[in-house]
Amino acid sequence: MKEFQLIRQIQRETSVATSCGVKLGIGDDAAVLEVPAGQHLVAATDTLNVGTHFPEDTSPYDIGYKCLAVNLSDLAAMGAIPHWALLSLSLPEADPEWMQSFTAGFKSLAQVHGVTLVGGDTTSGPLSISLTALGSIEPGRQLTRSGAKPGDLLVVSGTLGGAARALDLLQAGEPATGQDLLDRPQPRVKLGQALVTYANACIDISDGLLADLGHVLKASGCGARLEIEKLPEADSLAGLGDEARWNYQLSGGDDYELLFTLPPHHKALLPTWSQQLGIKLSIIGEIEEGEGVRCISPDGTIYDPQKAGFEHFSQTP
Ligand code: ADP
Ligand code: MG
Repeated sequence: MKEFQLIRQIQRETSVATSCGVKLGIGDDAAVLEVPAGQHLVAATDTLNVGTHFPEDTSPYDIGYKCLAVNLSDLAAMGAIPHWALLSLSLPEADPEWMQSFTAGFKSLAQVHGVTLVGGDTTSGPLSISLTALGSIEPGRQLTRSGAKPGDLLVVSGTLGGAARALDLLQAGEPATGQDLLDRPQPRVKLGQALVTYANACIDISDGLLADLGHVLKASGCGARLEIEKLPEADSLAGLGDEARWNYQLSGGDDYELLFTLPPHHKALLPTWSQQLGIKLSIIGEIEEGEGVRCISPDGTIYDPQKAGFEHFSQTP
């Protein structure tokens, strides 16, 4: 099977019904895209390498799903509407069966969010997938990491720690409860769009809550108080001791939930969004003057995650 046959297969198997603004898609030297009138283009890219970002035996379906999911999560964190994707594939062999499964995983998510694959590159080499997602937003409306203000509520979507827990169980050869949280993260695209004009800052949690909250605080020049008992917990964390559970919630990666800061006078919107979108939203703390994170444990004392002495997912990137 030759490169061009593989590209034809990708084109056939990823085509979606809605293809907004595609003047020219796969097949020419470059795609030509019409950004919706009066909007700005929003672009994000992420690479997944075998062995680093996913285990060798990950199904192609899951890889196809996840390469799009992580990029849509970035667009969601900006409040953007996704439209298009470009896919750079490095493949050890041209295997149509592998590709069929990959494109099925990709399409399952592309369809939900109306994303059209408009181009890419296909080469031979170690398995590596690089995806660029393109979307749009009204000028100046993007959510950034730098807008948090003291007094803002700190809010997180969904649950925390489930993906990291599933990865640990998988690597220990145990039945991975909650593996869907690892394999099929749900990019919070609609939530991101709802937050536009209300939230002051937003980021998607890919490296763990503390790490990503740290990015927001640094960019915004603020600190935060985090109440550990308010952290939403993935079902698969039930039965773990306090510190093991907190460690997953605070430092586990790959959750792809949104973390945002909301002026307190918009608090009443949270149950409305939650109900409309079917997404759990938890207030987990507050933005403060100063810098860094103060974690408050359930008994009211300060909890220092650094001192807990846990191995922080040494196997996760
Ligand atoms: P060029 O050599 O001009 O870059 P290619 O032969 O690499 O063109 O690609 C031909 C067409 O197929 C282009 O439109 C390109 O965007 C598309 N394409 C190649 N690989 C992929 C892929 N993995 N996914 C989607 N489109 C692809
Ligand atoms: Mg060319």
